[in-house]
Amino acid sequence: MKKLWAPWRMKYILNIEKDDGCIFCEKPKQNQDEENLILYRGKTCFVMMNLFPYNNGHLLIAPYRHTADLSALSDEEKKEMMGLAGEWVKTLSDRMGAQGCNVGMNLGRIAGAGIADHLHLHLVPRWEGDTNFMPVVGDTKVMSEALEDTYQKLKRSAPSP
Ligand SMILES: [Zn+2]
Repeated sequence: MKKLWAPWRMKYILNIEKDDGCIFCEKPKQNQDEENLILYRGKTCFVMMNLFPYNNGHLLIAPYRHTADLSALSDEEKKEMMGLAGEWVKTLSDRMGAQGCNVGMNLGRIAGAGIADHLHLHLVPRWEGDTNFMPVVGDTKVMSEALEDTYQKLKRSAPSP
């Protein structure tokens, strides 16, 4: 598998131990979805953009409930999570022209989970040649502007609850 080069993730990797609190618990509690890049709130799960994306349009779907245990999810949570995954893969295709998508979970830190205590599903849209033409700018300001643009593009097409 080709590796995506996402240099802005260094900021995340360097800050990972400093940040206390769980972002998947804290961000939905704050009433500032745009600032927090929350695109959609469902009944049991929500959709947000990854602040430190592997690719433009990298989304995360998490249950509101704080758990690391996939087997502990209720049927309702599982159903909504997979339902949202399907809808948002389609949104990434429709709105951003994604040609494919990596969908998956990293369970446990050893498996690569950045936030291991609160499980979350990654949707990483893919384009032919994206390893080549992806912006290779490490400048966080450039990246955050791209995030805002992408947020607006996707937010408009958020499926209604
Ligand atoms: Zn949590």
